[in-house]
Formats: sequence, structure tokens, C-alpha cells
Amino acid sequence: MRSRTPDRLCAEAVDVALAVTREAAGPDAVGEHLGIIAEGDRVVTHFFACEMPAYRGWRWATTLTRASRAKNVTVDETVLLPGTDAVLAPEWVPWSDRLRPGDMGPGDLLPTEADDLRLEPGWLGEEAPSDEDSVAEAPEGPAESTAGQDAEPDGVAVPTIAQIGAVAEEIGMGRARVLSRYGLHTAADRWEERFGAKTPMAQAAPAHCVSCGFLVPIAGSLSQAFGVCANEFSPADGQLVSLAYGCGAHSEAAVMPKTPHPAPMVLDDLHDTEPMPLHPDRHSSVEEGEPAEEDLGHS
Ligand code: SF4
Repeated sequence: MRSRTPDRLCAEAVDVALAVTREAAGPDAVGEHLGIIAEGDRVVTHFFACEMPAYRGWRWATTLTRASRAKNVTVDETVLLPGTDAVLAPEWVPWSDRLRPGDMGPGDLLPTEADDLRLEPGWLGEEAPSDEDSVAEAPEGPAESTAGQDAEPDGVAVPTIAQIGAVAEEIGMGRARVLSRYGLHTAADRWEERFGAKTPMAQAAPAHCVSCGFLVPIAGSLSQAFGVCANEFSPADGQLVSLAYGCGAHSEAAVMPKTPHPAPMVLDDLHDTEPMPLHPDRHSSVEEGEPAEEDLGHS
């Protein structure tokens, strides 16, 4: 239990603490005495300023103690501790929390947690269907026995593991783990954000991807909402795009009319051309013998 009152002998042994601290840290690294705290009964820590430029705000802490009824203090330890205004490194964050999309490089490995919510178990043929499942899914009434299937005594056909495996392969379940509903939704949200109907590109597009000839359909449940763009001039070339996305490179986008070029100037050099006075009114006055305005002004 920590004592509130520092032990007097330990508290007064500043010289001992200073000598020990200088011996451990070097004489130039230890500054003025900053104070003491009581760590416990007959255990006191002395603080000294740290003069090392790289450790601004840090303090040397030397702990002294003494045995019960003993007059001599002894040294417990000397350490360097950060003060209230010390420059500290940022709090360490595990790599799994630091990882961001796009951080993976060639040769990097990213283990997936066993309980990753984005995945759920697939079917590798290690589990045979239980009789309960078969009975539960069996249609009412007498069932016909199919070739290649085991027939139960009551006539209910139980598919073999090979048949189940073939179906699992066909629908993409023949893997150790497959995408869960949560993983599917988060992926769809992500893709919708990048190439969805609310993006500025889609808002300004003449039509949607669903009607574009460059859209490659995909299989599975996502086919109702996404496809792959195969237009090299589109910003989404090779990307999964929402059917409600769109861009200016849509295959049926209206062809813009070309800007008409002005006709070249034509000079008629085959006929005599009459002079074209800049001021016809003045020209006619001069011809009738009347002085021009310029002449009147000079007379
Ligand atoms: S070219 Fe544009 S409109 Fe056509 S599929 Fe690609 S992104 Fe969609």
C-alpha cells in the first residue's frame, strides 16, 4: 500500500539519487531535481530533468529505499520516464487494424480469420445428409426411385454424396468457405459506392449500363444488380459496375454533330469590280460639283 508521506531519509538523499542517475545516464544528461513521490513505505522516487535533446519532456526517475529501522538508503532502479509534455510515439496499432484496401503488394500474405464474418462454410463432401434432412425435404406421397440414388425402404430417394457434390460444384459451394450473406452485402455496398447510380459520372450519363452493349453479364445472385464493363474508354473498364451506373461512353450514346468549318473566302477576279466608297453620301456630293465637307472646313 502506497504511503502518502515520503520517507524522510529517502527524501533527503537527493545527492545519492543524483550521483546514481549521473552514473547511469551520464553527467551531461541529468538536469535539475524536479521533485519526489512516495511509492510506498520507505520507497521514494526522485525525478531529474533529462537534458538529452531527443527526449524533451522526459525525466530521469531514480527510486531509493531502505530497510525497516535501517539508516542507509539503497538504490532500487533508475529509469527514463515521459513527463506530461514529453514527445511520444503514436500508440501502436496492430497490423490487422492498420491494413487498408490497396495495401497488399506482390508476395504479401493476408491470413483470414477463422471466424471472419464475411465467410461461411462451404460443402466439400465431408458430411453426408442426415436422414432427417431427407425426410424433411421429401415430397408427400409415394416417391419414385431414381437411377443412381439410394432408395430408402419407404420409397424416399436419398441423393448420394457424389450427386450433392456435383450440385455444390455447380452452384459454387464446393469450397471450404464461401461468401456469407454479410460478405455479399458489404461487397455490393462497396461496389455501389464506386460505380453506382449516385456517382457524378452516372448522374451525367446519357443512359445506364443495363442498356449498354459493353456490359458483360455475370452469374449468380449479383447478376441482378451488377455486370462488368468492357469498354476501354470507360472509367470503369474491367470493373464491376452497377446496372444503374453509366458513363458517356455508353454504346448507344447520341453522336454529337461535328462543328461546321467556315467556307473559304472567294475572290471574284474574273469581272471588273466597281469601287465601293466607304461613305457613299460624300462620294455622290463630290460628283455633283459640291464641295466635300472636308473642303468646306478648310475654306
Ligand atoms: S461503357 Fe459506360 S455505360 Fe457502358 S457498361 Fe461501361 S460504364 Fe456502363
